[in-house]
Amino acid sequence: MKTPTAGDSSGFASLGLAAPLVAAVSALGYEEPTPIQREAIPVLIAGHDMLGQAATGTGKTAAFALPLLNKLSEDLKTNRGKARALVLVPTRELAMQVAEALHKYAKGSNLNVVPVYGGAPMDHQIRALRRGAEVVVGTPGRVLDHLRRQTLNLASVEMVVLDEADEMLDMGFSEDIDAIIAETPDTRQTALFAATFAPRILSIAGKHLKTPKKVQIAQEKRAPGKLPQIRQVAYIVGRGQKTGALSRILDFESPKSAIIFCRTRLEVDELTDTLNAHGYGAQALHGGMMQKQRDRVMQLFRSEKADILVATDVAARGLDIDHVSHVINYDLPTAPEVYVHRIGRTGRIGRDGVAITLAAPREQRFLQYVERLTKQKVEIGKLPTEADLRKRRLEAAKDAIRERITAGGLEDTRELVESLAQEFEMIDIAAAAVAMANDSADKTVVADMPVADERQPRSYDAPQRDDRGSYDRAPRPASRAPRDEGPMTLLRISVGKEESIRPADLVGAIAGEAKIPSGVIGAIKIHDDYSLVEIPDEHAERVITALKRTQIRGHKVTVQSKPAR
Ligand code: AMP
Repeated sequence: MKTPTAGDSSGFASLGLAAPLVAAVSALGYEEPTPIQREAIPVLIAGHDMLGQAATGTGKTAAFALPLLNKLSEDLKTNRGKARALVLVPTRELAMQVAEALHKYAKGSNLNVVPVYGGAPMDHQIRALRRGAEVVVGTPGRVLDHLRRQTLNLASVEMVVLDEADEMLDMGFSEDIDAIIAETPDTRQTALFAATFAPRILSIAGKHLKTPKKVQIAQEKRAPGKLPQIRQVAYIVGRGQKTGALSRILDFESPKSAIIFCRTRLEVDELTDTLNAHGYGAQALHGGMMQKQRDRVMQLFRSEKADILVATDVAARGLDIDHVSHVINYDLPTAPEVYVHRIGRTGRIGRDGVAITLAAPREQRFLQYVERLTKQKVEIGKLPTEADLRKRRLEAAKDAIRERITAGGLEDTRELVESLAQEFEMIDIAAAAVAMANDSADKTVVADMPVADERQPRSYDAPQRDDRGSYDRAPRPASRAPRDEGPMTLLRISVGKEESIRPADLVGAIAGEAKIPSGVIGAIKIHDDYSLVEIPDEHAERVITALKRTQIRGHKVTVQSKPAR
């Protein structure tokens, strides 16, 4: 059965994009166009000038990049190597990001994308331009520099994009933009994107755009009070810190059941693997999966066998789940309305819910849109510290002890405690026992969880596979065993990314075959055609022998060893 969650990128094809571009976005794991893409792409493909209102994070780069590439790829022979499209952006970072995105979408098209920005050596850029660049992405100052030196010629430009035009104006680039556009032919198509349609934006659009179509994503009006009362928290974290931040948040919040939203299928798969390799019980849900697989995942989540569901918006649409305690936006949604839809999955039927958002510093404006739409405050949180986590674990220990006492069956341990009571105060004995249990939990929870294949030494329990090959619930971090701190041996195992090896495969094989606790396994690094794993010296021989007998993901392996440190 094909459901609305199928998400096969056909949404992009229906916007009029050529097949290779549809294939490129599909390969990147995009499931459907974002609202700005849905509106802007057909307008640009039809050849109109366009004035678009869209902030960072809405998918606006692809909204102009895809039609731009579509236009250039219609005729690859004319003006080969000459600048045929120019994208002006306010900052060096954005120039790099936009060029990278264009490069990804243009894969296999023979179109060259060259970024030019200040602060980088001129000669390098000149050489790149000389080699031939059909698409130039640049900051106004540097583009003007190249024009003056005649290392860039804009006479063949068919399309100009002014991206984040409001920021370019704020930075005083207005005259530079005028001078640059004056060098392009009048026949060009022009698109302008800005976060608002302020009068100064309309004025620059009036100067450079011809009868532009306005594309504005209509904001859904929502009656206040219709949303459940949910605690909304956002953490501002850079791109590289997201997995570490998520790990801390999960350890601190200890959600009963959470949905974590990512934008693409690839991100869903990657994050699920990373979480599982670190001992969380996560299941992936996206439109690239067969209906049967999706049903199985939903069954595990509904029956609370998996406490984390990592999903794309498309796949989660229409799911009716009542018990979600936390919604986590690992990636920002593409529009405030999508945010509202996501967080509506928690706090149902009068239960308390929490919505957590990880936003990059550049994405903070999005949170203001959300506050306006939901008429509720989004609190900016401070990531829990190690001390916070410890305090939280002690609270959890208190509850666990209470439960354990009620469950009874403590006769053996009572005897031990009674004998210790001859020497010590009862309260000291109990305090020592709690501290010991908690210390071992502490050792296993490392502050920052790096990405799956760039891990620091730490311990985790590999998720268990049940007999149908699915992941079963994995133990929570606090229940992980402490890692041995003694001397370690580094094993080089002859399988890696090329064999689709994930940390969980290695942990599963090592712990399962050599019968050692997974908690003692140290750092794992997965390279293209081999992997490195640290094992305590005392287990090394046993692991080597066991691995030689077994297969990992269907591959026989060879293992070499040397002292790790
Ligand atoms: P932007 O607003 O252009 O900065 O895009 C923000 C992020 O959204 C980028 O990481 C893109 O790769 C991603 N993205 C853009 N379009 C889509 C889409 N249709 N589906 C999923 N992710 C997307």
